[in-house]
Amino acid sequence: MNYVSTRNTDHSVSLSDALQEGLAPDGGLYVPSAFPSIPPEAFEGCTTAEAIAERMLEPFFDGDVLAPEVPGIVSDMYGFSVPLKDVGAQTRVLELFHGPTAAFKDVGARFLASSLSRLNRSATEPLTILVATSGDTGAAVAAAFWKKPNVEVIVLYPKGRVSDRQEKQLTGWGANVQTIAVRGVFDDCQRLVKAAFQNDTWQNRKRLSSANSINIGRLLPQMTYYAVASLRVWRETGNEANFIVPSGNLGNALACVYARQSGLPIGEVVLATNANRPVTAFFESGEWEPMETVETLATAMDVGNPSNMERLRHLYPSVDALRSSITAARVTDEAIRQRIETGEDDWGEVWCPHTATAVDVREKLLTSSDDHPWVIVATAHPAKFDDIVEPLVGREVPVPEALAEVMERSRPAPEIPPSLDALADQVLDAQAPAA
Ligand SMILES: *Cc1c(COP(=O)(O)O)cnc(C)c1O
Repeated sequence: MNYVSTRNTDHSVSLSDALQEGLAPDGGLYVPSAFPSIPPEAFEGCTTAEAIAERMLEPFFDGDVLAPEVPGIVSDMYGFSVPLKDVGAQTRVLELFHGPTAAFKDVGARFLASSLSRLNRSATEPLTILVATSGDTGAAVAAAFWKKPNVEVIVLYPKGRVSDRQEKQLTGWGANVQTIAVRGVFDDCQRLVKAAFQNDTWQNRKRLSSANSINIGRLLPQMTYYAVASLRVWRETGNEANFIVPSGNLGNALACVYARQSGLPIGEVVLATNANRPVTAFFESGEWEPMETVETLATAMDVGNPSNMERLRHLYPSVDALRSSITAARVTDEAIRQRIETGEDDWGEVWCPHTATAVDVREKLLTSSDDHPWVIVATAHPAKFDDIVEPLVGREVPVPEALAEVMERSRPAPEIPPSLDALADQVLDAQAPAA
């Protein structure tokens, strides 16, 4: 299996190269050159999540140097459960928040950490992952790469612009993970990352790479939990499962679509977005137009120009093909608040603000006569967003053990002004041997 650029399908690389490069040289995103056919029967005898994940990933690793390491990568990646909870009314909840930072991004980050660590086994210098984060991605990457050999991570976050709990997840790692608080906004952090990549001194001193959400290594592993969930529903009911995916940058939703494209028993795929309009506007008008990001309660989905739209449009070049394969719905903050408020009464669940968008879509579908099984994708644990959720449910939401452990490690991070010199002082000079 090779991977091609969305902007030039003649540009084809191996999986390992796609993982290490991140972005294609022409600015396009890497996508599989073709989709394998792995129908439900191909999973016979695969009962555990790990066995299903291995079977799902094998064809995507075919011919790559990492192919023999799929079982090891899968075992590094899971190590926590992905329960599918029946909450009644033909509705199941796929809980993707049992990893160390209590959100689905743990899966992709752990896959990438395991793969990159293995690929750099014989390197003389570690690979340095430079990440700018507005909160959740940096935490998942830090947790995933922590203490992995042959790789190191530098996380930059905007001081005072992440929540207390997010800051606790970002800081205090030590070992091969350095976290730096930048006196600025997220865009300053991102600018510093880009500047370091283009700077000769940095290029001479470090082997730089990125772990952002456009890396195909964040998408492929996410297909595996859709395989696990859809096969469970298929084996129990003989029906295809329909999925509702809370979406921002569309990486999670695309993984669901890729799984269906590969033959998994998945029916409808519905993208639940927050008040940000670009995705639903595109489905309505057929014209793609990025928009200014608006702030909502589901902050991790506040995206005005989702980069994975390029992959989606590559898969469905015509708008009609796209419309017949996927639908999208927009959910207001008011609806998010209401679903969180009534979650325990209606479903016996406390929802995070992101998951609440999918819940709203599901509740609106309940009035129809459709009796197919639906799966709500729960992208984060509600305790990550205590400031929003607790006032609405009127009580404290206990922090899951894995997340509590991560937050306990917290220590104040060094602070720098938003300049590349200051970042170099902190990172390069601190490690330079005495002259
Ligand atoms: C990142 C994130 C999303 C959005 O996922 P995309 O892959 O960017 O669409 C939704 N919910 C939570 C909790 C997230 O962290």
